[in-house]
This record gives sequence, C-alpha cells and structure tokens, in this order.
Amino acid sequence: MPALPGLGLTSIMIETKSLTKKYGDLVAVDDLDLRVEAGELFVFLGPNGAGKTTTIKILTGLLQPTSGIASVAGIDVVKSPIEVKKIMGYLPEDLFLYDKLTGREFLQFVADMHGVQNKQDKIEKFMELFELSAAANELIEGYSLGMKKKIAIGAALIHDPKVLFLDEPTGGLDPRSARMMKDLLQNMRSRGTTVFMTTHILEVAEKMCDRVGIINNGKLIKVGTIDELRSGTRETAAGSLEDIFLELTGGTQEDWVSQFLDDVANHS
Ligand code: ATP
Repeated sequence: MPALPGLGLTSIMIETKSLTKKYGDLVAVDDLDLRVEAGELFVFLGPNGAGKTTTIKILTGLLQPTSGIASVAGIDVVKSPIEVKKIMGYLPEDLFLYDKLTGREFLQFVADMHGVQNKQDKIEKFMELFELSAAANELIEGYSLGMKKKIAIGAALIHDPKVLFLDEPTGGLDPRSARMMKDLLQNMRSRGTTVFMTTHILEVAEKMCDRVGIINNGKLIKVGTIDELRSGTRETAAGSLEDIFLELTGGTQEDWVSQFLDDVANHS
C-alpha cells in the first residue's frame, strides 16, 4: 500500500472513494477520496456548510451516501453499519442525549449497549476527570451545554473505540475541559486510536494534528501535513494554519468588513 504524504507505510483505517452525497440539487460531498491511517489524528477543516458533518455522518453509518464507497477498518459502512458502530465512538455536533436520564444513568446505558466490563469504575473515573461527579445524579435536561458535551464525550469513549469521530470536540467547553479534551485525544492517539475530527479552532488543529484535510463546497481541496499544505501555498514557514486555510478557501474579508461598517455608519 503506498504511503500517504508525510507518513510511513501502515494500514488504512478510514477510506472514502468517490464519495458523493446530494440533497436534491445540492452536492454536499462531491467525489471525495480520502484515506486516514491507523493511529493518525486527522483534522477535517472547512468553512460552514463545506460538507464536514455530512462526511462524518456517512462514515459513522448515520447517513446513506448518494454514491461512492466509505469504509472504516476495512468494513463497508453502508453494508455493515452495526459492525462499524461496534469499533467506533462518535461525538456528534448535535448531541443525542436522553434528557430524562441522569448523567450517570446515560453512561451506564451506553456502556451496557457496548457490553463494557467494569463500567461503574470507568464511569466514576470519567466523571471525576471531567468534574461531573457532583452532577452525576441530576437529570441531563438540567445540565449546561458544556456538561452535556462532556457526557456525550464520555459516551463516545466508554467502550475504548478503535476509531473516534469527533465533530467540534472542544466547542462549548470551558478552558480547563477543552484542555482535558485535547490531552485526552493526544493520549488516545499515542495509544493507537485513530482520531478523525472537525474543528473551527485552527490553533487546536495546528497543535494536534498529524494531517489536515481541507474541504470546500463538498470538494477536498488539500490534504497533508501542515508543512505540506504550507509548501503548496504562498505561506512561508512562519505562516499559520489560519493563513493557509484562508488562502485556500477564498482569502480574508477585511475590506468587505470595513465597507460594511462604513455603510452602516452612513445610514445611522
Ligand atoms: P458547519 O461547519 O457549519 O457545521 P459542515 O461543513 O459540517 O458545516 P454540512 O453540515 O455537512 O457542513 O452541510 C453541507 C451542506 O449540506 C450545507 O450546504 C448544508 O446546508 C447541506 N445540508 C446538510 N444537511 C442537509 C439536509 N438534511 N438537507 C438538506 N441540506 C443539507
């Protein structure tokens, strides 16, 4: 198997071939070819509406593609969605939680679904790590957004998945929990878990990723390590991922912002 740019020869954990998803006339994911190696931390970037969540939903078996192939650990996600769900964890952008369960009950429920051994011990340790112990017996409906997110993270991790799909994992978390999340992901990666995540926080992507894929209007426009991306743009070695991202996805809108504010001021 050929090596991916910037990486050695290993096995492919996530793969899409000519993956396409249409919503009516709108092509949300357009002929996407992507490969992520086992143990890699891959960050999928793109502007709002670029097709990131749609891609993740197909890879996690929640959405049928219009055409093309998507596989995780060599398993076709369309043909065998249950098999794929056994080995993956998923943190969705819109959290799916049961509001009438307590945080602890929800994690127990998810752990039971996956047949997790020593679930009580694992749940208590997770609650402690994310400072949820005091709220463990309260109904999820009373949780703040950040607390709900932490419970959803626990649900994605409880069965020690081989592959983790995370849609905006740090969004809505306070600084301490966001740091905890980043440490957790780095640690999982170093233990061999494959991580596929989206984020709009480019600093997070830059610090953590092995490789980045940039999608715009459903099309993969660039993929590689940060250095590889930099060498394909006008950016110098000092150029940040934000600079690279903005160049590849249409530049900044500083002039437009200034014009807009002038217009607003002229009409007041
Ligand atoms: P964001 O960064 O804002 O979360 P995204 O990159 O995850 O965006 P998607 O949610 O995958 O983008 O959406 C891609 C495109 O598909 C958008 O134009 C969106 O409006 C459209 N879309 C997504 N879901 C549906 C749906 N169920 N029906 C119709 N159009 C949809």
